[in-house]
Amino acid sequence: LTEKLQNVFKKLRSKGRLTESDVKSALKEVKMALLEADVSFKVVKQFINSVQEQAVGQDVMNGLNPGQMVIKIVNDELVKLMGSETTEITLKQGNEITVVMMVGLQGAGKTTTAAKIAGKLKAKGRKPLLVACDVYRPAAITQLQVNGEKQGIEVFAMGDKKKPVDIAKAAVEHARGQGMNVVIVDTAGRLHIDEDMMQELIAIREAVHVDQSLLVVDAMTGQDAVNVAETFNEKVGIDGVVLTKLDGDTRGGAALSIKAICGKPIFYVGMGEKLSDLEQFYPDRMASRILGMGDVMSLIEKAQANLDESKAKEMEQKMRKAQFGFDDYLESMNQMKKMGGISSVLGMMPGLGGKMKDLEGMVDEKDLARKEAMIYSMTPAERSNPDLLNPSRKNRIAKGAGVTVAEVNRFVKQFEQTRKMMKQMPGMMKGKKGKLGGF
Ligand code: GDP
Ligand code: MG
Repeated sequence: LTEKLQNVFKKLRSKGRLTESDVKSALKEVKMALLEADVSFKVVKQFINSVQEQAVGQDVMNGLNPGQMVIKIVNDELVKLMGSETTEITLKQGNEITVVMMVGLQGAGKTTTAAKIAGKLKAKGRKPLLVACDVYRPAAITQLQVNGEKQGIEVFAMGDKKKPVDIAKAAVEHARGQGMNVVIVDTAGRLHIDEDMMQELIAIREAVHVDQSLLVVDAMTGQDAVNVAETFNEKVGIDGVVLTKLDGDTRGGAALSIKAICGKPIFYVGMGEKLSDLEQFYPDRMASRILGMGDVMSLIEKAQANLDESKAKEMEQKMRKAQFGFDDYLESMNQMKKMGGISSVLGMMPGLGGKMKDLEGMVDEKDLARKEAMIYSMTPAERSNPDLLNPSRKNRIAKGAGVTVAEVNRFVKQFEQTRKMMKQMPGMMKGKKGKLGGF
């Protein structure tokens, strides 16, 4: 399949090459977008130079003008720069204790994030302990206790008279005694980079053998975040970054600067004050956000969809004749994934109106893998003719895919609905340029 797609790709890609002036003028726009997103100047300059070098001479994809092509390259490079995949905290296996230390300036979101992470880990079956080592702001201890309590997570505190190092040591002992396996130490920040703070963090790190130091930075601080990250990394050493307050109106250029300058991965992003508002970091989403060229990006996605025009036609015909089988389903789902996610694709579809919600449920990306497994457990005949699926066949498929029969039933039903809906929506597949291939 990929081979077939690549061929289509090749065929459609002969629309000339990018000239130096194409690249220069498009990059001017990109430069503005990056600076506006508060990416540090140094990083912008380096980045622009490297893209410039690469882009000149590249083929312009069908459906794009040269300017859009440059932006597509920029987007891809941004994603690459931020790490092409999502990374998370590294935890030790089993009952061995992983000590995580939260570091960062005051107000960045350490205490909140510590609690959010503990909640996430608990949900994954870990046994976290939160430790209140900010003894300078009395409210910080209560804040942690309140947040811990909300999630049923124990908070270890010894008031504000003890030294942070001693609290941390006692906490790890306590965790060991209680069979807990993650210790998350909340520390005190300062308003600015401060030698005392660094010394204190180093002392804690040494005393309890911190495994992961997480730097928490406020996305709103933009370029300052780079200095903060550099200094913390130099003095204390950090393993990863959490970028908070991305729900505010910021484009989050700090993410790029930090990654470019200290090379540390961003683990999570904070999307609000609620404890559930912590998300994994997705480089591709972040790249679009930093570029802030939403319209252009969706144009590019559409153009990519156009690549499969011939395929779409073929599929349309199948659908009309109700020949749409599981293989086609799988293919269209994968195409969607390629195009940057279901929701972004749905967002671009005209006139979907109330059907949007139904569709979203049907093409949930998360269970795509399970659906794939079920489809792969079908015989070719079953895939092209879903009517063959009787109970015994479904039973076999469930076994093969490692899911329940109920799930197979649900999926088949869903598939039938999709097929029906597709037949009712011929407009979506027809006509003008910019249509969505494959769905
Ligand atoms: P600390 O001083 O580093 O411990 O920071 P706190 O955890 O006390 O957070 C400072 C403020 O930022 C609090 O009012 C938090 O509710 C808020 N905050 C933390 N993370 C986020 C986030 O992702 N989004 C928003 N909107 N607010 C956040
Ligand atoms: Mg705090």
